[in-house]
Amino acid sequence: QSSSPMVVVANRLPFIVKKDENGVLVRKQCAGGLVTAVAPVVVETRGLWVGWPGLHKEDNLEYIPESSPDDKSPTAGLKSEQVIPVMLPRQLFDDYYNGCCNACFWPLFHSMPDRALFQSDKWQAYLTANKEFAARAVDAVKKIHAEQPDAVPLVWIHDYQLMCAANFIRNGCEAEGIQVKLAFFLHIPFPSWDMMRLFPWDDELLQNILGADSIGFHLEDYCFNFLDCCQRRLGCRTDRQKMLIKHNARLVTVHPLPISIPYERFQSLAQVAPAVVKNNPEEQILLGVDRLDYTKGLVHRIKAFERFLEKHPEQIEKVVFIQVAVPSRTDVKEYQELKEELDMEIGKLNGRFSTANWSPIRYIYGCISQEQLAAFYRDSSVALVAPLRDGMNLVAKEFVACQTKEPGVLVLSPFAGAGSSMAEALQVNPYETELYADTINRAITMPKEERELRMSLLKKREREKDVNYWLESFLESVNCDCKNTSGRL
Ligand code: UDP
Repeated sequence: QSSSPMVVVANRLPFIVKKDENGVLVRKQCAGGLVTAVAPVVVETRGLWVGWPGLHKEDNLEYIPESSPDDKSPTAGLKSEQVIPVMLPRQLFDDYYNGCCNACFWPLFHSMPDRALFQSDKWQAYLTANKEFAARAVDAVKKIHAEQPDAVPLVWIHDYQLMCAANFIRNGCEAEGIQVKLAFFLHIPFPSWDMMRLFPWDDELLQNILGADSIGFHLEDYCFNFLDCCQRRLGCRTDRQKMLIKHNARLVTVHPLPISIPYERFQSLAQVAPAVVKNNPEEQILLGVDRLDYTKGLVHRIKAFERFLEKHPEQIEKVVFIQVAVPSRTDVKEYQELKEELDMEIGKLNGRFSTANWSPIRYIYGCISQEQLAAFYRDSSVALVAPLRDGMNLVAKEFVACQTKEPGVLVLSPFAGAGSSMAEALQVNPYETELYADTINRAITMPKEERELRMSLLKKREREKDVNYWLESFLESVNCDCKNTSGRL
């Protein structure tokens, strides 16, 4: 466990600040599993959280409101003085966030380089934004140092929006003469050298990432990709066994740390959530839950389901496919086009196969409550989790945690990070429509004993390795770095 004060640096704060109907500033919670796990550590260690409050510089945010007295969320204990807002001019934020993070790093890091835009001005905006986040993080470190001069703060930087922050924070703290420990965790895949070398400023990017002392990725494969890039582009010495990189006379450690979910919370939700309404008690539900993103393989999934219905007309009126698509990056043209394509494919399929009393696809475009989500997970016979590429994919894990009744079947793509550990799922390559359709059929007709066995093994692993396990592994990896990096390479 960490007793060092923790400074979290993330693109977003664990809540957004907005005005309520009376014009009073309030916090609006957006607590996912990560926030639920990490916020209590910031509270307990008297740390700080640095991030974007959902407002820009022009909005003149005067103060961060305290949490309301009836707030039961994990961030309720986070006092206003433990939050440092980062507010950028609107245009800069747009260039950094949409122009660089989402239009360049997101597709490139998901190995879809044809979709990536490489624009020098957007990269400059990214660097400027990262410097601003870093400056606020150094403020946070100074604040902690003034209150607890003997403590060595642990600065934990998150995700692809802030890949350059570690180096800027290191320089800032060195200038102040304050010792810190710097950790960076990437929540998306780290691509191979073949992809990384397409980025015109790859050397600068890699050097800035190496500003951290300790770097975490979900999978060992992503760690190896990173080591490989540092070796080939920067000429760093690396040790693949010990996962070490020598950079500027420092040793940087690299760790595979697969993230997970608050298992117990999902299981409890599933125990009380009301039943999903079916057309008839025997109807089997196939389920997909995704942000509407081109990495998720949504159109491939509709095509596979169509092929399944063609090959298995006996399943008509016996199964229903519920697809939840959460709106994402809706102001970006590519995402608007994807939605149009998906709407069209679903419309075509429903038009082709619907009968007087039944439609094959129930398509929900929007966000649903956690209770409703847990009910869908619990009452589905099959979850289709087949992204084209995904850092981890938490939906696969949430489905397993919610399987509290008749066990269902998880169909999982090997191109999701979750695919490398959830070995008892049925594997499917989303690009291969014919086999995809056969796998859907195998899942829907799988005998009970086989379903029980597969699901019990999946549940056991996910119960043990939940988000708290991930957090503890991270803290352990940072602490053990202090002992191990004194060696030579
Ligand atoms: N989710 C949600 N509301 C919804 C549907 C899904 O909050 O209506 C959540 C879901 O519970 C999961 C997350 O969105 O925790 C999706 O995470 P995942 O790793 O699968 O994909 P990402 O969106 O991060 O790429």
